[in-house]
Amino acid sequence: MLKLYNTESRQIEEILPADGRTIKMYTCGPTIYDFAHIGNFRTYVFEDLLRRAIQFFGFKIDQAMNLTDIDDKTLRGAIQKNIPLKHYTDPFKKAFFEDMEKLNIQKVEHNPEATAYIPEMIHMIETLMKKGFAYKSQNGSIYFSIQKFAKYGRLSHLKLPELKVNASGENEADEYEKDNVADFVLWKIYDPERDGQIFWESPFGKGRPGWHIECSAMATKLLGHTIDIHCGGVDNMFPHHENEIAQSECCSGHLFVRHWVHVEHLLVDHKKMSKSLGNFYTLRDLLKKGYTGKEVRYLLLSTHYRTQLNFTFAGLDAARSSLQRIEDLVLRLRSISSERPGVGVLEQAKERFKEALAEDLNISAALAVLFDLVRELNTLCDSDRLGNLEALEALKLLADWDRVLGVLPLEKKSEEIPLELLQFLDRRESARREKNWRLSDEMRDAIHARGYLIEDTPQGARLKKK
Ligand code: AMP
Ligand code: ZN
Repeated sequence: MLKLYNTESRQIEEILPADGRTIKMYTCGPTIYDFAHIGNFRTYVFEDLLRRAIQFFGFKIDQAMNLTDIDDKTLRGAIQKNIPLKHYTDPFKKAFFEDMEKLNIQKVEHNPEATAYIPEMIHMIETLMKKGFAYKSQNGSIYFSIQKFAKYGRLSHLKLPELKVNASGENEADEYEKDNVADFVLWKIYDPERDGQIFWESPFGKGRPGWHIECSAMATKLLGHTIDIHCGGVDNMFPHHENEIAQSECCSGHLFVRHWVHVEHLLVDHKKMSKSLGNFYTLRDLLKKGYTGKEVRYLLLSTHYRTQLNFTFAGLDAARSSLQRIEDLVLRLRSISSERPGVGVLEQAKERFKEALAEDLNISAALAVLFDLVRELNTLCDSDRLGNLEALEALKLLADWDRVLGVLPLEKKSEEIPLELLQFLDRRESARREKNWRLSDEMRDAIHARGYLIEDTPQGARLKKK
C-alpha cells in the first residue's frame, strides 16, 4: 500500500487509482526557453521516483508531462532573436530530453506541447465564458473571475475573502505572488509590440493562451477530467495549480485532481536555485566538471521530497562515494563462486525497504536499509560466509530495488574484469584467511599473469588492469 502526503488535505493518504488499475498522473514540465537547471531536475527526478514507485507497488501508470512552449519567456526569446517560436524552443526541447536521459528518468506516455493544443484551450475558454466564469476585459483579453469560484484558494489554503485581491482586478502576468491575487488571464489579446509576429486566431480575436489554461487543457484532453495525481514544485502550487483547479472544475463540473503532490526546492547557499537569482547549475555544468548523471540523480533523490535540499559540491562528492560503495559490493558479489549455507539476510531488508517507500516515499529510510545491507554483506564476505547462491539473490534484490531508484551501479562495464579472474581473487581471499599461502600465491600469480594487479582496500581486495 503506497501512501503519499496530499497537499490539499494535508494528510498522508493511500494512493489508489480511480479505476483500480492505472494511475493517471500529470506533472508540470519545463518551460523550454533555456536549459533546465538542476533545481528543476530535482522535481523531475522525484516525479520519476514516484512514477517508478507506483509501478513497483503494482499499478499501471499513464503520465503526461507537458512542455511549455508558449509563455512570456519563450515569446520574448523568439522575438529578441527574430526567429519563429519553434526554431527558438526546439534546441531547448532537445537538450531537455538529453538531460532527462542522462539522469535516467523514464520516458513518460505523453509530452504535449502547448502549441499543439490551442483548439482545446479555446474550447475551454469558450465554455468558461458561456458558464459565466470568464469575461472579456476592456483591452480585449479574457480573464477568469476568481470571485465566481467559491473554492478558490483551497489547495494553498488561502481564503478568498481574506485575500487582498488586487483592486485593479486583472493579472496579465503568467507568474505572480500571493499578494497580487487577481483575476487571471485565459487569453491574452495580441499586442504587436510585445508579441511580434506570434499569435493564434480565436473567436476572441488574435492572441495567445495564458500559461495556466495550457496545463488544464492538455491534462483534460490526455487524461480525462479527473486525474489521480498532479505533481510539481512547491512554487507551482500558487497561483498555477490553484488556477488550474479553478478553470478545470468550472469547465467540467468534476473534481480535477484527487491527490496533489509538491516537491520542495533545491537551494544554493540556502536560497532557491533559480534563473532569476543566477545561482544555478545546469546538468551540463556538472557533467563538464566530471560528475555523472547518476551521481547527480543520487544527490537529488536522496533527500525526502518534502524537505529542502541545499546543493553543495561536498554533497555531490558524498553521492559519488555512496555509489562507489555499492559498486564495490556489486563486484564482490559477482566474484563469489564458493557454495555456503544460506545466512538469510535478505528477506528482512526486502520488507523494510518496501515499508519505507510505502510511507510517503521515505527515501532516507529506504537508503538506510540499503546501506545496512551493504554493510552486512561486506561483513559476511570478509568472514567468507556468503555463498554464491545468496550473492546472486542479493544482486537480484539490488536490481529489484533499482526498478525504483534507477541509480544503482549494476550494469556490467565494457572493460569489466573477466569472471575467471574475480573467481581467482575470491579463492585467493579464502586461501589467505585459511593461511594457505601456497594457494594464495598461486592465485595472485595467475591474476598477474593475465595482466591485472591486486589492490587491497578497506572494503576488500580489488582488481585493476596493469
Ligand atoms: P519552470 O520551468 O520554471 O516552470 O519550472 C519547472 C519545474 O521545476 C516546476 O515544477 C518548478 O516548480 C520546478 N522548480 C523550479 N525551481 C526549482 C528548484 N529550485 N527546486 C526544485 N524545483 C524547482
Ligand atoms: Zn502546469
